[in-house]
Amino acid sequence: MNLILLGPPGAGKGTQAKLLEQKLNMLQLSTGDMLRAAKDKGSEIGKKIKLIMAEGNLVTDEIVIELISENIDKSSKCAGFIFDGFPRTLYQADALSELMSSKKQSIDLVIEMRVDDSQLIERIVGRYSCKECGEVYHKVNRPEQKKGVCDNCKSINGFIFREDDTEEALRTRLFNYYRETSSLIGYYYAKKKLTMVDGLLPIQTIHDLIYQATKNNL
Ligand code: AMP
Repeated sequence: MNLILLGPPGAGKGTQAKLLEQKLNMLQLSTGDMLRAAKDKGSEIGKKIKLIMAEGNLVTDEIVIELISENIDKSSKCAGFIFDGFPRTLYQADALSELMSSKKQSIDLVIEMRVDDSQLIERIVGRYSCKECGEVYHKVNRPEQKKGVCDNCKSINGFIFREDDTEEALRTRLFNYYRETSSLIGYYYAKKKLTMVDGLLPIQTIHDLIYQATKNNL
């Protein structure tokens, strides 16, 4: 079973991907995480990516398709892939479909996580994560229980804010979502793969709904 989590920035794709990974022995493939890792290496391509990402623009299709392809090849032992933040353009969606076919696999389910724009700004501005394990927190909605200590891994090495989690970059990210990515909703609806989930429901309820959708799909 391979599934795509589709939704605007801040919809909760990463959170749901992590919960599904634990429950179904699937593997999260997040192009955002892969690009952040490439960016931190400081290579020439890393420097280019850094600027594009900080502004909230999309990295080229070629780069992300290459990254996804490499990571699929490296990970054969999981029960399936959870694509998080990929595809983001019709070109990427077609490339993914070809990639899956070449491995005699397919995309079985696409979950659209729907959240109002006004909620997204609140969710994203104020978001930070543990430097060590990546656990995500929010200044107002979910601060760490003991100040400076990660609830998950107990690290005291600090937290980081994403460079693109600013109001200005978010405006660009949202614009790009509606311009480039939202047409994928229709694309997967036409392929009868789409299930919509209300992204404003509690995290566990959303997880249960997605889990149920995977069961219905088997
Ligand atoms: P995310 O962590 O999914 O919010 O992605 C962070 C940033 O990485 C995006 O704003 C883009 O700049 C870049 N990015 C991630 N995935 C893609 C993709 N599939 N296509 C193009 N750019 C991407």
